Amino acid sequence: MARRRIIAGNWKMNMTPSEAVELVNTLKPLVDNADVDVVYCVPAIDIVPVVEAVKGTNVAVGAENFYIEDKGAFTGEISAPMLLDAGVKYVIIGHSERRDYFKEDDAFLNKKVLKAFASGLTPILCCGESKEQRENGVTIDWIRLQIKSDLVGVTAEQVASMVIAYEPIWAIGTGLTATSDQAQEVCKAIRDLIAELYGTDTAEAVRIQYGGSMNAGNAAELLSKPDIDGGLIGGAALKPDFGKIVNA
Ligand code: PEP
Repeated sequence: MARRRIIAGNWKMNMTPSEAVELVNTLKPLVDNADVDVVYCVPAIDIVPVVEAVKGTNVAVGAENFYIEDKGAFTGEISAPMLLDAGVKYVIIGHSERRDYFKEDDAFLNKKVLKAFASGLTPILCCGESKEQRENGVTIDWIRLQIKSDLVGVTAEQVASMVIAYEPIWAIGTGLTATSDQAQEVCKAIRDLIAELYGTDTAEAVRIQYGGSMNAGNAAELLSKPDIDGGLIGGAALKPDFGKIVNA
């Protein structure tokens, strides 16, 4: 069965609530494609107005982060029940910026993945190697370690429903893109790992995105590869270009 494509924007810490609504309205006619799942992962404060603004469209809303407890004394954090109540469907977990700046390690990310599933949120689980790791030839080993660690205790059925984003760190926000062959090689290695751990049906079902300076110019080539089912887009998600990626 063909996997449905999924193009997600990661808006990061950009867009005030009013700018966010303006962007949704600008993109509305450009992302109208019934054959593709389109997701906007937006800052916490934008979630409520963006959920309202995408009503009646093909766009789902994702969160960029959440905390692993349902409620309590966790000043500044947002829980899965809060996200769900606001209309959020997806959550990004393990983005390299959270691994790096906020010191989220694989043990904690595993808790986040388990909590997302237990709550009914679909994880977009990110993995990716640094420039040094690529140069040292350990990319695939590193990616396998990240994914294996992040998926401890996750069932085959859950994995089949999730999204994994391969995002080489050296390509994020740098304008450097992995070649389509480099991206395909790692996305295939991820699918092979899922087959090893969970069987071929699960591996055939899980959707794997590429992320890292994907734009209107390179999206079609990247998305033509057999194991790349979509994209996680940073910079280009904030521009009309995002519509071109959705339709690539
Ligand atoms: C990202 O941060 O997930 C990302 C892919 O960013 P960019 O597209 O800007 O490289």
